[in-house]
Amino acid sequence: MLRRNMLIWLVALLPLMVTVDLQAQVVIRNAQIIDGAGTDPLVGDVLVTGNRITAIGKDLKVPAGTREIDATGLVLAPGFIDLHSHSDRTIVKDSGRQNLNYLAQGVTSVLTGNCASGPVDVGAYYKKIDQDSAGTNVMHLVPQGSVRRAVLKNENRTASPGEIQRMVALVDQGMRDGAWGMSTGLIYLPSSYASTDELVKLAARVSRHGGIYASHIRNENTRLLEAVSEAIAIGRRAKLPVHISHFKASGLQAWGLASEAIALVVEARKAGQQVTADQYPYTASSTSLGAMVLPAKYRSRDVLVAALKNKEEAEQLKERIRRGLRVRGEGKRLYVAGYKTNRAWQGKNLAELAEQEKKSTLEIVLEIQQNGGASMVNFGMDEAEVRLIMKQKFVATASDGSARSLTDESQPHPRNFGCFPRKIGHYCLRGNVLPLAQAIRSASGLPADIIGLPERGYIRQGYWADLVLFDPKTFIDTATFAQPKQLATGVRYLWVNGELAIEKGKATGKLAGRALRHESKEKSKP
Ligand SMILES: [Zn+2]
Repeated sequence: MLRRNMLIWLVALLPLMVTVDLQAQVVIRNAQIIDGAGTDPLVGDVLVTGNRITAIGKDLKVPAGTREIDATGLVLAPGFIDLHSHSDRTIVKDSGRQNLNYLAQGVTSVLTGNCASGPVDVGAYYKKIDQDSAGTNVMHLVPQGSVRRAVLKNENRTASPGEIQRMVALVDQGMRDGAWGMSTGLIYLPSSYASTDELVKLAARVSRHGGIYASHIRNENTRLLEAVSEAIAIGRRAKLPVHISHFKASGLQAWGLASEAIALVVEARKAGQQVTADQYPYTASSTSLGAMVLPAKYRSRDVLVAALKNKEEAEQLKERIRRGLRVRGEGKRLYVAGYKTNRAWQGKNLAELAEQEKKSTLEIVLEIQQNGGASMVNFGMDEAEVRLIMKQKFVATASDGSARSLTDESQPHPRNFGCFPRKIGHYCLRGNVLPLAQAIRSASGLPADIIGLPERGYIRQGYWADLVLFDPKTFIDTATFAQPKQLATGVRYLWVNGELAIEKGKATGKLAGRALRHESKEKSKP
């Protein structure tokens, strides 16, 4: 380790001997530099010239007029990269464009198009980001569910060869326009209607362009292992890297499966396959109530209402819902996060609401579903398993949240405001669950490696100046389930492409993010 560090320093000192040009410059002095590779921190200086990191070393000599920032006691890390963002719709709107809830976490790049849903026209989406900018950099995955809907609507059937061809063509275009891979969301409609074979055909086209297969797998509950195996098999058959989104064992009956799921990934990696995962560091998940307790086809209001009129079907359906509630503590673990019909229900769990309304939890579920549904927070994970997953070297930090307005009426999962500082501040610095260098790597170098993002994710000479300077004593999440819309604290400075998005702890309002396009392998072929 020592010898390797010395070598890094020698390389880092080389640029001192060359002259630097006279663009806007800032030198960050005496920072604890954690470079994203997972190696030990070093105390030193980093020089930023324009939008690049131009020198790293001790006591850097810099041209006159260079701005100096004293970073004594502060940690300088690569700007964080969120591989699991659902900002597709919000980051192109005025209310979410700045992505302040992520800037305050130290995030400088987000990957959208997750869980099978988002814009299919990757080129048009990137163009919007080019035109209006954003607070963070934005990258995109081709969302397989939206692709399937564009060709087969919401039909639950096998795709014909012609339809597969049309889906492959859409995936191909998305990859040519700079998508970093394809996502699936196999508990959602219509993504889940795709068979493994259908997914392999689409993924094979992604592979030709050098993209990844990112999956919200078919089951995170008692059939977790089957679902992990399906994802790994898709990667093996289509010859591309597999990335498992928000890795977890969810629901009381699934507790204990995390270590076996980890073992499946480790085994595949040993066999030479590229398999990775990401995680948000919370014991609660969040999605729609329908996705949690209803079979897929009953999530549409009309289908549900019709089914309830048929006595036999209604009884079967109710039994399914009761089972869904039973594994979630009879509704005690299920909290209403967003419910437009009645905001007063937000923040309460289904058992509480049942008591308050003098109804059964089943009746509450049916009422919510018939009123357009609600987003929920489900305390379904085991703390020990969350920590176990977090420690794995192949697990990146990712939020599963989105750019948000601070003032609307929603009550989102706190991961939207606290994911990264919670892992680093709460679990690592205060809880000692994993070393700081690894916690930083899981938010920077590792996610960059997973998608093959060049010149970002590490503090290296010549790399883009996406950097976060935070105070390890105060870097922490403040968002709670009761009060989720609270910005994280502790980021002192944040550079996005060399521009200051946060300065002395305050957001500058600058929109320095850009659309980052993946370069297809196919393009470089003659
Ligand atoms: Zn998901």
